[in-house]
Amino acid sequence: MREPKRIQRLPHFRGLPVPSTLVVEDGVPDFTTPDHDKVAEHVRRGLCHLCGERLRREVGFVGGVVSMNTGMFRDGPMHLECARYAFFACPFVDGQKTTYRRLREDRVIAHRQATPHRPEHMGIWVCDWSTTLGSGPRMQFIAGPAIRVEWDCELWRRFGDG
Ligand SMILES: [Zn+2]
Repeated sequence: MREPKRIQRLPHFRGLPVPSTLVVEDGVPDFTTPDHDKVAEHVRRGLCHLCGERLRREVGFVGGVVSMNTGMFRDGPMHLECARYAFFACPFVDGQKTTYRRLREDRVIAHRQATPHRPEHMGIWVCDWSTTLGSGPRMQFIAGPAIRVEWDCELWRRFGDG
């Protein structure tokens, strides 16, 4: 999936867009660590948690099956196009902090393992409001009722080749 215009406008580090909520130290972004002050600021001003621009009415939350059952998320609301982009190009969280994972079709369905034997589906919860619970590193997002959920297999069909 190509970078949406909003993502293209973000600063880039080694060719990768730097989400507006990340910790950046000496010009080097830590792709695994959100800056909690920035996150709080995004919540207060109603900004997209990926590109940092103002959200419109319809927003997307990226999460696994548990989130899709509870409507609770660790990551904040995004523009739909930003959520779709994040879905296809999410950073490694296993030490290779400056590398984005490019999903292959055979991995997209099972790219996050709940246990070694039980793959977890991912989806985008689309809604038009949300609120937060807790603060700092424990902040969670409670999404409004889902208008729809875009599942990994459907997202791959629609956007996987672009
Ligand atoms: Zn955005």
